[in-house]
Amino acid sequence: MSKTQRSYPQDDGRVFHDMAPEGNPCFECGACCRHYRVSFYHGEISSQPGGFVPEHYVQPVTPFIVCMRGTETGGGRCIALRDDGRCDIYSQRPSTCREFRAFLDDGSMNPECVRLRKLYGIDISST
Ligand code: SF4
Ligand code: SF4
Repeated sequence: MSKTQRSYPQDDGRVFHDMAPEGNPCFECGACCRHYRVSFYHGEISSQPGGFVPEHYVQPVTPFIVCMRGTETGGGRCIALRDDGRCDIYSQRPSTCREFRAFLDDGSMNPECVRLRKLYGIDISST
Protein backbone atom coordinates (compact mmCIF):
# COMPACT_ATOMS: atom_id res chain seq x y z
CA MET A 1 0.00 0.00 0.00
CA SER A 2 1.27 3.47 -0.86
CA LYS A 3 2.05 5.71 2.12
CA THR A 4 0.16 8.40 0.23
CA GLN A 5 -3.08 6.43 0.32
CA ARG A 6 -5.10 5.66 3.46
CA SER A 7 -7.92 3.14 3.39
CA TYR A 8 -11.02 3.04 5.58
CA PRO A 9 -13.25 -0.07 5.59
CA GLN A 10 -16.92 0.80 5.92
CA ASP A 11 -19.60 -1.05 7.89
CA ASP A 12 -21.37 -1.95 4.63
CA GLY A 13 -18.31 -3.72 3.18
CA ARG A 14 -17.08 -0.92 0.99
CA VAL A 15 -13.59 0.51 1.42
CA PHE A 16 -12.96 4.23 1.09
CA HIS A 17 -9.57 5.70 0.25
CA ASP A 18 -8.07 9.10 1.00
CA MET A 19 -4.87 10.52 -0.46
CA ALA A 20 -2.33 12.61 1.44
CA PRO A 21 -0.93 15.60 -0.48
CA GLU A 22 2.66 14.28 -0.48
CA GLY A 23 3.42 12.10 -3.51
CA ASN A 24 -0.17 12.22 -4.67
CA PRO A 25 -0.23 11.30 -8.39
CA CYS A 26 -3.82 12.53 -8.75
CA PHE A 27 -2.80 16.22 -8.63
CA GLU A 28 -1.25 15.92 -12.09
CA CYS A 29 -3.96 13.65 -13.44
CA GLY A 30 -7.70 13.90 -12.76
CA ALA A 31 -8.34 11.45 -15.60
CA CYS A 32 -11.02 9.57 -13.64
CA CYS A 33 -12.74 12.90 -12.90
CA ARG A 34 -12.87 13.56 -16.66
CA HIS A 35 -13.79 10.10 -17.88
CA TYR A 36 -16.60 8.42 -15.95
CA ARG A 37 -20.13 9.39 -15.15
CA VAL A 38 -19.71 9.91 -11.41
CA SER A 39 -23.08 8.75 -10.15
CA PHE A 40 -24.24 7.85 -6.65
CA TYR A 41 -27.27 7.48 -4.38
CA HIS A 42 -29.12 10.74 -3.85
CA GLY A 43 -28.98 10.29 -0.08
CA GLU A 44 -25.40 11.58 -0.23
CA ILE A 45 -26.55 15.07 -1.32
CA SER A 46 -26.25 17.78 1.33
CA SER A 47 -29.98 18.48 1.16
CA GLN A 48 -30.73 14.93 2.42
CA PRO A 49 -30.46 13.90 6.09
CA GLY A 50 -26.83 12.97 6.68
CA GLY A 51 -25.85 14.00 3.15
CA PHE A 52 -22.59 15.80 2.45
CA VAL A 53 -22.08 16.37 -1.31
CA PRO A 54 -22.92 20.04 -2.05
CA GLU A 55 -26.27 20.08 -3.80
CA HIS A 56 -25.30 22.62 -6.45
CA TYR A 57 -22.54 20.30 -7.73
CA VAL A 58 -25.05 17.56 -8.49
CA GLN A 59 -27.39 16.68 -11.37
CA PRO A 60 -30.34 14.21 -11.18
CA VAL A 61 -30.09 11.00 -13.21
CA THR A 62 -33.09 9.06 -11.90
CA PRO A 63 -35.40 9.74 -8.90
CA PHE A 64 -32.82 8.10 -6.63
CA ILE A 65 -29.53 8.48 -8.48
CA VAL A 66 -27.59 11.68 -9.11
CA CYS A 67 -24.24 12.44 -10.70
CA MET A 68 -21.61 15.13 -10.46
CA ARG A 69 -22.36 17.95 -12.89
CA GLY A 70 -20.27 17.72 -16.03
CA THR A 71 -20.05 13.93 -15.91
CA GLU A 72 -23.62 13.21 -17.06
CA THR A 73 -22.69 11.44 -20.30
CA GLY A 74 -19.18 10.29 -19.44
CA GLY A 75 -16.16 11.86 -21.09
CA GLY A 76 -16.96 15.18 -19.41
CA ARG A 77 -15.12 17.07 -16.73
CA CYS A 78 -16.51 17.01 -13.19
CA ILE A 79 -17.49 20.47 -12.04
CA ALA A 80 -15.45 19.99 -8.86
CA LEU A 81 -12.16 19.27 -10.66
CA ARG A 82 -9.94 22.32 -10.26
CA ASP A 83 -7.36 23.42 -12.82
CA ASP A 84 -4.57 22.41 -10.44
CA GLY A 85 -5.91 18.83 -10.51
CA ARG A 86 -7.37 18.95 -7.01
CA CYS A 87 -10.94 18.21 -6.03
CA ASP A 88 -12.78 21.31 -4.88
CA ILE A 89 -14.94 19.27 -2.50
CA TYR A 90 -12.46 16.59 -1.45
CA SER A 91 -13.80 16.17 2.09
CA GLN A 92 -17.35 16.19 0.72
CA ARG A 93 -16.85 14.08 -2.42
CA PRO A 94 -19.27 11.22 -3.08
CA SER A 95 -18.70 7.59 -2.15
CA THR A 96 -18.04 6.75 -5.82
CA CYS A 97 -14.87 8.84 -5.67
CA ARG A 98 -13.88 7.55 -2.26
CA GLU A 99 -14.04 3.94 -3.48
CA PHE A 100 -11.83 4.52 -6.53
CA ARG A 101 -8.22 4.13 -5.54
CA ALA A 102 -4.96 5.02 -7.23
CA PHE A 103 -2.91 2.27 -5.60
CA LEU A 104 -3.51 -1.43 -5.06
CA ASP A 105 -2.58 -3.27 -1.87
CA ASP A 106 0.88 -4.16 -3.22
CA GLY A 107 1.65 -0.47 -3.85
CA SER A 108 1.36 -0.67 -7.62
CA MET A 109 -0.83 1.80 -9.44
CA ASN A 110 -4.39 0.72 -10.16
CA PRO A 111 -4.33 -0.66 -13.74
CA GLU A 112 -7.41 1.42 -14.50
CA CYS A 113 -5.47 4.55 -13.55
CA VAL A 114 -2.66 3.48 -15.89
CA ARG A 115 -5.20 2.91 -18.68
CA LEU A 116 -6.86 6.29 -18.14
CA ARG A 117 -3.56 8.14 -17.84
CA LYS A 118 -2.44 6.69 -21.16
CA LEU A 119 -5.79 7.58 -22.70
CA TYR A 120 -5.46 11.22 -21.60
CA GLY A 121 -1.77 11.52 -22.43
CA ILE A 122 -0.62 11.75 -18.82
CA ASP A 123 2.87 10.60 -17.92
CA ILE A 124 2.96 7.07 -16.48
CA SER A 125 6.71 6.87 -15.99
CA SER A 126 6.32 7.44 -12.25
CA THR A 127 3.71 4.71 -11.95
S1 SF4 B 1 -7.04 8.17 -12.68
FE1 SF4 B 1 -6.02 7.40 -10.83
S2 SF4 B 1 -4.15 8.64 -10.65
FE2 SF4 B 1 -5.56 9.74 -12.01
S3 SF4 B 1 -6.70 11.10 -10.66
FE3 SF4 B 1 -7.91 9.22 -10.87
S4 SF4 B 1 -7.28 7.99 -9.08
FE4 SF4 B 1 -5.73 9.58 -9.36
S1 SF4 C 1 -16.07 15.04 -6.90
FE1 SF4 C 1 -13.86 15.42 -6.86
S2 SF4 C 1 -12.89 13.38 -6.83
FE2 SF4 C 1 -15.04 13.13 -7.51
S3 SF4 C 1 -14.99 13.20 -9.75
FE3 SF4 C 1 -15.37 15.28 -9.03
S4 SF4 C 1 -13.33 16.25 -8.89
FE4 SF4 C 1 -13.04 14.03 -9.01
